[in-house]
Amino acid sequence: MKNILPRLGLLAAAVTLLTACPSEKPAEVATPPAATQAHPTPAFNADSAYAFTAKQVAFGPRVPNSKAHIACGNYLVAKLKQFGLTVREQPFEAMTFDGTQIKGRNIIAQYQPTAARRIALFAHWDTRPFADADKEHKNAPMDGASDGASAVAAALEIARVLSLQPDSLAPNVGIDIMLMDAEDWGHEDSTQSDIKDQLDETNGNSSWCLGSQYWAKHLVPAGYKAEYGILFDMVGAKGGHFTREGTSLNNARSVVDKIWNTAAKLGYSDYFLFKDTGAILDDHVYTNQAGVPTVDIYDHPAFGEEYFPAYHHATGDNMSIIDRKTLKAVGQTVLQVLYQE
Ligand SMILES: [Zn+2]
Repeated sequence: MKNILPRLGLLAAAVTLLTACPSEKPAEVATPPAATQAHPTPAFNADSAYAFTAKQVAFGPRVPNSKAHIACGNYLVAKLKQFGLTVREQPFEAMTFDGTQIKGRNIIAQYQPTAARRIALFAHWDTRPFADADKEHKNAPMDGASDGASAVAAALEIARVLSLQPDSLAPNVGIDIMLMDAEDWGHEDSTQSDIKDQLDETNGNSSWCLGSQYWAKHLVPAGYKAEYGILFDMVGAKGGHFTREGTSLNNARSVVDKIWNTAAKLGYSDYFLFKDTGAILDDHVYTNQAGVPTVDIYDHPAFGEEYFPAYHHATGDNMSIIDRKTLKAVGQTVLQVLYQE
């Protein structure tokens, strides 16, 4: 992801005008339908989420076209199937800004696939091919422990927890785990000004988020709709902070409020800061365009002008920075949000 939005087409907020017809009959006194009882929220297991993070990192950098990328993708598909979700793969081909033709695949896994009300959890599972923000090793590959693996791990752990719930204690919504590919092979002006971007980035196209751009144009499942989406991106680092990001506020302010208020009730306000920050370019730009109002939970420094933490797109993004407490704060908060529906 990057911190400057390209020129996007108008993200027109759909305004629905509801016309109230005056009733001719006196209102009947009816008992309102009993709200479907919310079941107690199960525990998000931080050890398990940590292990899912380490497992992905152990494949090596998950750079599209690499063996590690294919192997990790196969692992994620198998794991989601093992948890009983209905899994679809969406292969696609794309060209990156440096002219590389890549084969990607988005992985779409549905829990309670027939439930009418749905909530999507998004994360990207690829890693950036070079640590261009690194002070010394700009061309080195990077582990993407937080930027990539931690986010997928949070979604996987939620899938695992859901799979253990008896039907009688299931949440009232279906949940879709959407693992997007090729998010992170984008052109970054501040570190790659010497490299020409070969892509046409007009009309809302970008060299970032290639998987979610493809998905937004070719929805899987066809005609996909969800009440809202939550994007995880870099949710595993020690001392992580999550601010209220601009595009999320513009498209899904009520969901931002719901998540941040839930985090506060659970005692996680040290992580979820009630601080509004500028828009970034991340997968949620395209999932919002696809009609899923989406909130981005991403690691933003608590103070200063930087949009991203020091480990971002640097070799320091490895398992040494992963902290179970951060994974727990994010995972438990989102699980609680899902169970409150
Ligand atoms: Zn990244």
